[in-house]
Amino acid sequence: MQTGKETLGFQTEVRQLLNLMIHSLYSNKEIFLRELISNASDATDKLRFEALTDSALFEEDSVLKIRLAFDKDNKTITISDNGIGMSRQEVIDNIGTIAKSGTREFFDRLTGDQAKDANLIGQFGVGFYSAFIVAEKVTLITRRAGLTSEHGVIWESNGEGEYTIENVEKASRGTEITLHLREGEEGMLDAWRIKSIVRKYSDHIQLPIVMMDEEGNDEALNQASALWARSKSEISQEQYDEFYKHVAHDHEAPLAHVHAKVEGNQEYTQLLYIPSRAPFDLFDRESRHGIKLYVRRVFIMDDAEQLMPQYLRFVKGVVDSNDLPLNVSREILQESKTIEAIRSGCVKKVLAMIEDLDAEKYAKFWKEFGRVMKEGVGEDFANREKIAKLLRFASTRLDTDEESVSLADYVSRMKEGQEKIYFVTAETFASAKNSPHLEIFRKKGIEVLLLSDRVDEWLVSNLHEFEGKQLQSVAKGGLDLGSLEDEEEKKEQEKESGEYKDLVERIKRELEDKVKEVRVTHRLTESPACLVSDQHDMGMNLERLLKSAGQNVPASKPILEINPHHPLVQRLKYEEERFSDWSAILFDQAMLSEGGQLDDPAGFVKRLNGLMLALSGR
Ligand code: ADP
Ligand code: MG
Repeated sequence: MQTGKETLGFQTEVRQLLNLMIHSLYSNKEIFLRELISNASDATDKLRFEALTDSALFEEDSVLKIRLAFDKDNKTITISDNGIGMSRQEVIDNIGTIAKSGTREFFDRLTGDQAKDANLIGQFGVGFYSAFIVAEKVTLITRRAGLTSEHGVIWESNGEGEYTIENVEKASRGTEITLHLREGEEGMLDAWRIKSIVRKYSDHIQLPIVMMDEEGNDEALNQASALWARSKSEISQEQYDEFYKHVAHDHEAPLAHVHAKVEGNQEYTQLLYIPSRAPFDLFDRESRHGIKLYVRRVFIMDDAEQLMPQYLRFVKGVVDSNDLPLNVSREILQESKTIEAIRSGCVKKVLAMIEDLDAEKYAKFWKEFGRVMKEGVGEDFANREKIAKLLRFASTRLDTDEESVSLADYVSRMKEGQEKIYFVTAETFASAKNSPHLEIFRKKGIEVLLLSDRVDEWLVSNLHEFEGKQLQSVAKGGLDLGSLEDEEEKKEQEKESGEYKDLVERIKRELEDKVKEVRVTHRLTESPACLVSDQHDMGMNLERLLKSAGQNVPASKPILEINPHHPLVQRLKYEEERFSDWSAILFDQAMLSEGGQLDDPAGFVKRLNGLMLALSGR
């Protein structure tokens, strides 16, 4: 095993991050202290947890604390903890690399525009590297709890691409980080300044943060009690926000929080937050959940995924149970009735918190997390109705892709005689909005929801009704507008269906392989034809989505509907010579206008050109 001095290079991503951070976060440089204290606090949490099963790790020093010190002559600030510490390999893995999933994607999104990238950095979490905002050199000395003193490690870097690492003697366990301040940062070397930064950003830290005063006594700089265990009236908004930044490893204040003590069968405290912004890895399968589990104030685990369903994976915060045993493991959690009860209580609280957001915050929330919330309809049967109320959609009423229409809004605007909630699904917003299926609805002034997220198909396959009103795809089944059509319209339609019977039969013969049926429709006002699916078949958009995801989908043929009022269709009645080409083109253009792909695009072009030439008389 290596014990001597090595010089290693930072991972490319770390180099980029360092560079970006130093420049874009400079105006808020005090946060370095918050980040280092937050890490020290995490490290003592980890020690306390590991010591539950191995009390020797305390090494006869069980009073956990964080110590701050500064040295005016040497221009240094030192942050030390007696937490878990790190082994040599852990230093390399944790400090030299960024192991978070989705890191590559994050860096691909950087634009080079400093203002924009500074925002992105917030989503990524700045952490340890923020030390380099104020330090030209950082020295970290650490020893893992339980290892002997010669296993201490010293790590040093100027933040410019490389670091050195070497074994050293370290008697006490834990980590000590010394910042050698940059020229011009001397203002940090001031007890009053340091105290006020700690009070502002780190007051919520559970263990004491101490600094020596002029007489040589330790002075506590924070309240050192778990924030969630205090009563609400004692906690300021700012303290709630700073605590969020600590648990969520986020840089921005949250959108909302809920803090409650639950008593009764289960006793637990929950302090849960909705972030202002979706993390960059929200759709990454490995993305981590954000709930920390404590048992009677003792940290048990990060990322307690049993406490929040998948669709609420963006929620961050703390749950502290009075009932669980301290030695609870992930395996136990999976089967625990206590956890089940806590989880359902947490979900209720979160849904209520979302419901209570004001309009402006709601719009923000939906923009960031709407797609994930939609998963909830299929995932959380017990809360389906509540979730349905929270959904927002784009609609023909606005014709923008902004998702702001709730099902309740829609229902309240339904026309007299309208019985169903109409929607169209498509792969893009543009093809949803321009779908030929909407023509009759626009003409009659009936609102239709425009669904173009991938998850929307999954949503509507799980949500069949809202407040007793059926959800109906406008591209499925025969068009039945019920009493929205008057008697005269219905009579006329019957008459036309009769007149076009022959044509319908002829087209059907031509397209036998491609369509299930051909029929006259009244849903079109401008287009000559469109495709619909049988009410119980899979919709065409869903079929396309599944196919593109590589799934084997049973082939179902669509129904071709033709518009008797369209001149092309009328003309087709008298067409003999090129009838076959006309029919094929009618089908293909219906396919194109709903965003589908042609089986034989070259054949389509050839037939179209043939017809154009014939019409131009050459
Ligand atoms: P994060 O805290 O979000 O994981 P950081 O960049 O702040 O990211 O820290 C990176 C990792 O370095 C931590 O996850 C931890 O494993 C390790 N680390 C940092 N500071 C300490 C410390 N004081 N004691 C032990 N480990 C630490
Ligand atoms: Mg950190």
